[in-house]
Amino acid sequence: AAPLAGVGVGVVIYNLIFNLIARHLAKIKREVRVFQSFANLQIAVDWVALIFLVHYTGGVESPLIFYFVLHIVVSAILLSRRSCFLQVGFASVLLTVSAIIEYENLLPHVPSPLFIGTFYNHLPSILSYLCFLITGFLITAYLASTITLKLRERERQLVDLESNLEKAYRELEDASRDKSKFIAMISHELKSPVATIESILSRLFESAGGGLTLKQREYLERINRRARHILTLVDDLINLTREERVSVRKISVDLKKILAEVCESLQTEIEQKRIRFLKEMDPSDLFIKGDPEELNLLLSNLITNAVKYTPPGGMVQVIMKRENKKIRIDVKDTGIGIPEEVKEKIFEEFFRAPNAREMVPEGTGLGLPIIKRIVKDYKGEIRVESRVGKGTQFTCYLLERI
Ligand code: ADP
Repeated sequence: AAPLAGVGVGVVIYNLIFNLIARHLAKIKREVRVFQSFANLQIAVDWVALIFLVHYTGGVESPLIFYFVLHIVVSAILLSRRSCFLQVGFASVLLTVSAIIEYENLLPHVPSPLFIGTFYNHLPSILSYLCFLITGFLITAYLASTITLKLRERERQLVDLESNLEKAYRELEDASRDKSKFIAMISHELKSPVATIESILSRLFESAGGGLTLKQREYLERINRRARHILTLVDDLINLTREERVSVRKISVDLKKILAEVCESLQTEIEQKRIRFLKEMDPSDLFIKGDPEELNLLLSNLITNAVKYTPPGGMVQVIMKRENKKIRIDVKDTGIGIPEEVKEKIFEEFFRAPNAREMVPEGTGLGLPIIKRIVKDYKGEIRVESRVGKGTQFTCYLLERI
């Protein structure tokens, strides 16, 4: 027991020292080679300690011999294949030498307390035992290092793949940003000439209206309608690519006030179509941190659609209230509804449902994508429920501007 306890104390002491060295190495961050040499040294020292334990528990008869396998697996995982086999060689030499020393009685044999049967002094048994043991070690080293090599290869491939994916993602993001910038630039460039065309046409219409033939009037009206459509499209494109704006305002915005502004701007259309317009507001204040322009755009697009796609005499209802920490906005109408099969597509750029095209030929299909982007910027979500011919309800939740 005394020598075993001695070896145990030795193991604790050198492990403490190794621990200190390992911490120091981790701190100064040396290259992998240094860590590998250190691991090699630790395994070799462990084996020297293990051979002492083996000697004091029966020598070649000791069941502790099987613990050599543990370190073989560890070295196959941590070290190169070559180092692993060198370690196995070292362990085999240690075992063979200790068996010879005991066989030749250079050191007295310590009988194993755990193992009956004596063969430390029977050469053929020692040789066959060591032969099976060492080939077992070699096979273990081979199998464990093969699996490890394969795993390392896979790991390397995964790391490569990940960095390639990251690169590709970054490139895609850059390309998408460039595209948005390009669209924003073109839209801004288009806006003023088209606005000029539209205003000249309007003035021409006013001044020369009486002197025009019916055909000329019709042509001019059509040109004017088209110019107005292009202007709407350009405005929508600008709004869609707004994220490229240098700074976004983030102030406390009164949503009730914004709603009043939106309703006022739609008043003429609501009256012309004799639409019953209902508002239901939370009695408390409805303030949200964000950009008033964006929030106006959100409400105005939602309500404009409801009014636009509701036949004369229908009803549009806006409900705004606080729900938990979010603000919930519902816009309901009794309009044409959205066909079930295209419900998924309405938030895609330029998509317009066939029934909407039929009812309102001019439209850009950009209103909902703009809404979606704004809702996302307000950590929110938007849902839609609709039945063709019955009506539509958009529900969106907003928290605050990111
Ligand atoms: P636009 O109104 O210019 O067509 P939007 O992006 O605002 O573009 O809307 C996309 C499509 O979603 C519309 O063309 C229409 O098919 C459908 N839609 C949106 N709101 C409504 C609504 N309130 N009622 C029925 N259909 C709607």
